[in-house]
Amino acid sequence: MATVNENYQKLPGSYLFAEIARRTNDFAAAHPDVDLIRMGIGDVTRPLVPAVIEAMHEAVDDLACAERFHGYGPEQGYDFLREAIVAGDFTSRGVDIAVDEIFISDGAKSDCGNIGDIFAIDNRVAVCDPVYPVYVDTNAMAGRAGFYDEAAQGWTDIIYMPTTAANDFCPALPEQTADLIYLCSPNNPTGTVLTHDQLKTWVDYANEHGSVILFDAAYERFIVEDDVPHSIFEVEGAKTCAIEFRSFSKTAGFTGARCGYTVVPKALERDGQSLNAMWNRRQTTKFNGASYVIQRGAAAIYTPEGKEQIEQTIAYYQENARVIKEALEASGYTVYGAVNSPYVWCETPGDIGSWEFFDILLERCGVITTPGAGFGPAGEGYIRFTAFGDAEATKEAMHRIEDLAFDMQ
Ligand code: PLP
Repeated sequence: MATVNENYQKLPGSYLFAEIARRTNDFAAAHPDVDLIRMGIGDVTRPLVPAVIEAMHEAVDDLACAERFHGYGPEQGYDFLREAIVAGDFTSRGVDIAVDEIFISDGAKSDCGNIGDIFAIDNRVAVCDPVYPVYVDTNAMAGRAGFYDEAAQGWTDIIYMPTTAANDFCPALPEQTADLIYLCSPNNPTGTVLTHDQLKTWVDYANEHGSVILFDAAYERFIVEDDVPHSIFEVEGAKTCAIEFRSFSKTAGFTGARCGYTVVPKALERDGQSLNAMWNRRQTTKFNGASYVIQRGAAAIYTPEGKEQIEQTIAYYQENARVIKEALEASGYTVYGAVNSPYVWCETPGDIGSWEFFDILLERCGVITTPGAGFGPAGEGYIRFTAFGDAEATKEAMHRIEDLAFDMQ
């Protein structure tokens, strides 16, 4: 008889977005006249830029004729895209990354989840709290998380590193040795970043302890400040201790198109094994490559026109982030993130909890946000706004919240 992976039974229900949907639907059913503004989910709203669309159309035409047809491509991705990435994302920033250190994927979520395949089950995992849930859940599925402690809202074998205003959103080095360390900068959900010096501390720790940092840079394109690395490989020593995940989802609106990449340096070895060779083996065995059409579209963002066009889209979201941050601050809220990120992390007023404040904003303003508590216990007392919405709707939401602040005084 087949038996199942019992780790799945230990997973708590994926409560956050289901609960947001339930509360939103209940409210909408009772108040059909309220024009709801969605600032909760982290999906983009601007269309793909013309350079990308044009490249994808051409690629479809390639597939339509025998001479230019493409069947299975390289599992690691086409060189035209890998070379564009090396030049555009690394050489241009003075970072030396080779083409065969880049692995194209169908997005960062898959790779963040799949990377666990190349690590033993007994590695001790450390994550920030609050956290992008994929890191934790995928390790729990693999059996690397112990059991879920309802009272603590966390897994017994995972090291949670609180990142709150109290530590300037920089996790402290853990007391127990962490083997696999997930870091995300710019961070989802807090919108905060790790500076060069802060990352250097982690790189030194990882090299000293033989740990591997799994660095999620999905929001890299939103960085504007100088001392914030766009890649962990801008930090000396990172090539012997880090793997980096990148995504075109937020960079170029690929949440639906699906494309990203992972950088596994050849200098990265553990137990005498090359992690680059192991990831290559994993990908060539379990993954047949991202679509040719989509990879052509992704390569177009590295052309001069494509680059300029995606910068305009990013600027649109950055302006939304500025509007949200300034309106919330003007209403007396304490706000983090927003500067190098599309996420605005707002302290809930007084001793109002995350879910309670979520309800207030839903019921009094018709604005849907994400309660910080849904990302981990240390997210309690915060609420997340996203800047990925329509500019006019964002301004309207902020007017409503400013009026609410006036009412609450
Ligand atoms: N990493 C973080 C921190 C994210 O917030 C997201 C998506 O929201 C992803 C990865 C997944 O990105 P992708 O669309 O490339 O799978």
